[in-house]
Amino acid sequence: MSDNPREMNRSVQRCSFCGRGSDQTQVMISGPKGVMICDHCIRASNQIIRQNQSAKQVKPLDSFPVPQEIKRRLDEYVIGQEEAKRKIAVAVYNHYKRVNNRTLEDDIELDKSNIVLLGPTGTGKTLIAQTLARMLQVPFAIADATTLTEAGYVGEDVENVLVRLLQAAEYDVASAEIGIVYIDEIDKISRKSQNTSITRDVSGEGVQQALLKMLEGTVASVPPEGGRKHPEQKLVSIDTKNILFICGGAFEGLDDIVKRRVNERAMGFGADVSRVQRTSTFDFLRQTQPKDMIQFGLIPELVGRIPVIAAMDELSEDAMLRILTEPRNAVTKQFKRLFQMEGVELEFDPEALMEIVRQAQERKIGARALRAIMEQAMLDPMFTIPSHKEINRVRITKEVVTGDAEPIFEEINENRKSA
Ligand code: ADP
Repeated sequence: MSDNPREMNRSVQRCSFCGRGSDQTQVMISGPKGVMICDHCIRASNQIIRQNQSAKQVKPLDSFPVPQEIKRRLDEYVIGQEEAKRKIAVAVYNHYKRVNNRTLEDDIELDKSNIVLLGPTGTGKTLIAQTLARMLQVPFAIADATTLTEAGYVGEDVENVLVRLLQAAEYDVASAEIGIVYIDEIDKISRKSQNTSITRDVSGEGVQQALLKMLEGTVASVPPEGGRKHPEQKLVSIDTKNILFICGGAFEGLDDIVKRRVNERAMGFGADVSRVQRTSTFDFLRQTQPKDMIQFGLIPELVGRIPVIAAMDELSEDAMLRILTEPRNAVTKQFKRLFQMEGVELEFDPEALMEIVRQAQERKIGARALRAIMEQAMLDPMFTIPSHKEINRVRITKEVVTGDAEPIFEEINENRKSA
């Protein structure tokens, strides 16, 4: 090797497009007549081609399941919430039918079936949206409405939601344009919300207006890397017409609004008021009409763009127990698999599971508490087992969950000891 920089340079091949040397790139492909292209330029070209393609064609889903199939697949992950799952299955089916048949040349415009899920925290709202996206193999993004602001205020621009979707789509604009966005805590941007901030538009109405534009369909220009728009940053156009928006929120107090309306009507017709008064929160929420949501504090235009309203029920003890054991990726199944990888069989006493459910119910955050309580109960065995090869079986009793006893380790497998 020569130390002469001139000679060294001679061995460096240069990209004919950007001028990078082969020492600055991973791949350099040569074409005829000494033309070279580096991996940076190949990637950039690829992106340009994709963007061009997506500008011309909207990507249809090759196939999409019918409502009963959607419901059946949701059942594998989401326990209970039967009514919400049925409504959603129909809405999602109609949505993608509309997306796929956009090319029909007639004058009937099908409206978009954006969805709002009303109900307590930890009951499966995000899980439903997430499961749908995975089932349909479309990109998925989650946003929290309380962190969003209209442009110009401190916080996140509403359009950043689309940036996240674009990132989930690996920058494939056509895919992002048929994705699913879940907007959590939509109830917290109502006009009457207590959740006020001096840095944000106090009424939340500005955010609602900005969301409205996205929900009804607009071509938004977003900075692909996120953050505020800078004049020098290249913007990507995303058409939100075919993006399915699922909004969620606890909507505390909405049941009272519905109750008042229903009771007024019931009294008007001389119905049995005592029967109405006995009805649960869920029973009122499931009767929610657009006018109730407007009274709650959402602007009429936004409510008009979310035609599908589905209520989520509180999770009963029985539902929580099923959540622990039944879904495809149920927590108990996950731990059993973890232990199986160590060659150890894990067993839960039914009373132990009941105790986990009981503790979870106390925390009042729905099924979200289950995992944390389970993690706590499993800490000891997870700490012990990897260094005790002779342990073959672990039994988790109620006392392990309450912290009053050690797990029962059964040391049967002498072979593992020597393994
Ligand atoms: P939220 O209604 O607040 O959006 P999530 O969907 O985020 O609640 O639920 C939190 C966690 O609790 C989920 O990841 C899931 O593990 C569990 N979970 C909640 N509801 C259900 C349900 N109905 N079926 C199965 N798991 C559930």
